[in-house]
Amino acid sequence: MSRVAVIGSNMVDLITYIDRMPAQGETLEAPGFALGCGGKGANQAIAAAKLGSDVLMVSKVGDDMFADNTLANFEKFGVDTQHVTRVPGVPSGVAPIFVQADSHNSILIVKGANAHLDAADIERADAALAECGLIVLQLEITLETVYAAIDYACRRGIPVLLNPAPALAGLSPAHLARLDFLIPNETELALITGRVVDSMDAAFAAARELTALGVRHVIVTLGEAGALYVGAEGEFRVDGRKVAARDTTGAGDAFIGCFVHHWCTGGDIRRAITYAVAYSACSVTGLGTQSSYPDAPAFETFLR
Ligand code: ATP
Repeated sequence: MSRVAVIGSNMVDLITYIDRMPAQGETLEAPGFALGCGGKGANQAIAAAKLGSDVLMVSKVGDDMFADNTLANFEKFGVDTQHVTRVPGVPSGVAPIFVQADSHNSILIVKGANAHLDAADIERADAALAECGLIVLQLEITLETVYAAIDYACRRGIPVLLNPAPALAGLSPAHLARLDFLIPNETELALITGRVVDSMDAAFAAARELTALGVRHVIVTLGEAGALYVGAEGEFRVDGRKVAARDTTGAGDAFIGCFVHHWCTGGDIRRAITYAVAYSACSVTGLGTQSSYPDAPAFETFLR
């Protein structure tokens, strides 16, 4: 099994369970609140680690009460934090999340210390990164740092995966072309390609456009409909799992963490996607982000 590196964000999730969003100027009582460890980078790292991957995290925390908690959380799940560093005088990243009774969510991101992760941090982690079999990226750090990480991975000959979330238009085609894996959801796929993605055919067509650009493997997550693949191994769909969804927050990150774990263990893409669809479906049956990710034994039980 190869080591996985996540170069990305960590956030503190401030999760409010709501009946509906308040209108402007309105004050509403909400039925519940929870504090959790999150951030797309951290979520993906923890999901892979919970399944048994050896994970290196390259990230920045702030100079506040949230930083110790985030570091302790990484360590609890065995994630290597030698390259998670503190930024003096800067707050940690936070994500106020609003979850409605129908399980849909709205999320705000305050990057905080995550905005300070830069190309120099990647170079400083060179010795540790060089031992990794995959570099995993998202878009909650600066785009410059994401591009620097793609350049670094190519220079070092390390496969690189980008989960282009949160959704952002105008990504550099030259950098997209150098990706081994691009894993968007439908909204992100539409923004990256500038196409309307309102059907399965449209999603396949948009994914094909990205492979034509040079991406080796494009995997599109489709919510409860599962995921599709277009790339060097052809084209296929993996149907979603029917579950009673309670909270879909972090489902995309659960998918990536599980995909990464299985790809780094065996290298079979279809099998890794099938596991990732099941793992992320399992995660939406629980509340919260990382707290809803099963560990390997709990996932085995779900699969039975
Ligand atoms: P999020 O932003 O909530 O983390 P996302 O928009 O990035 O999620 P989705 O495509 O919605 O990603 O979901 C990722 C994966 O989670 C899907 O491929 C699917 O396997 C699983 N999933 C999401 N919602 C459901 C659901 N209601 N039922 C079953 N599986 C689901």
